Amino acid sequence: MFAHRLEVENLVQMKTLLRRVLDTLLPPGCLACDTPVDDDGQFCLGCFRVANFVSAPMCAQCGAPLPHGGLAGEGGLCPHCAARPPAFTQARAALRYDETAKKLILPFKYADRTEMARGLARLMRRPGARMLAAADVLVPVPLHRLRLRARRYNQAALLARELARLSGRPCVPDGLIRQKHTAPLEGLSVAQRQAELTEAIMLRPGFEVAGLCVLLIDDVMTSGTTADACATALLAAGAGRVDVLTVARVADLRFE
Ligand SMILES: [Zn+2]
Ligand SMILES: [Zn+2]
Repeated sequence: MFAHRLEVENLVQMKTLLRRVLDTLLPPGCLACDTPVDDDGQFCLGCFRVANFVSAPMCAQCGAPLPHGGLAGEGGLCPHCAARPPAFTQARAALRYDETAKKLILPFKYADRTEMARGLARLMRRPGARMLAAADVLVPVPLHRLRLRARRYNQAALLARELARLSGRPCVPDGLIRQKHTAPLEGLSVAQRQAELTEAIMLRPGFEVAGLCVLLIDDVMTSGTTADACATALLAAGAGRVDVLTVARVADLRFE
């Protein structure tokens, strides 16, 4: 099985390499529609007009776009962060998760368009500039190994690798792992059993983060629960700070 994993990883890497060779021969294409553009990681004019970049006002902590600044309370926090602050210090995203963002993310995530990681990572550089400059290490949000086997690659790890290349920061693609709790279930209530059966995020044995500023990378941030769980695990292992950078961010409908 280990050998199989290696083979699959080699295949994904070979495909990315091949695509890179092709990219040097062909003009770069728009991130969303393949119209020729000047440089990698750009939108064509038509797509740029409809791209919904996350901009102020947004929550100072979780980065949720806010319809008006009046919603931000003390310290610029959204009502959720004010009531129950997440474990991560700050989360930022390039785009709102809308139809244009879906055109970028769905093929990348589910249709083997792994070469798109390069352009998407470039898009993440601007909203993540400060975080990237401060980060000691980049770590992707993990996929459960069964899902990884089905999909053959972790899209968050591809983004983290590209961002590491662009920023010169180190990346540990398998620093976090996702698995089921293994505590014995006897004598637990239904609720406790359910809690034990939900996926747990933990550090790979040997991955040291004591005192480090960790930048967590993912494709989409929805409610922030997963990012929060990853940050909790990293902080429990001694990380000094955890930030989150994603391609897109689902706007909180409660704020719209
Ligand atoms: Zn376009
Ligand atoms: Zn918030």
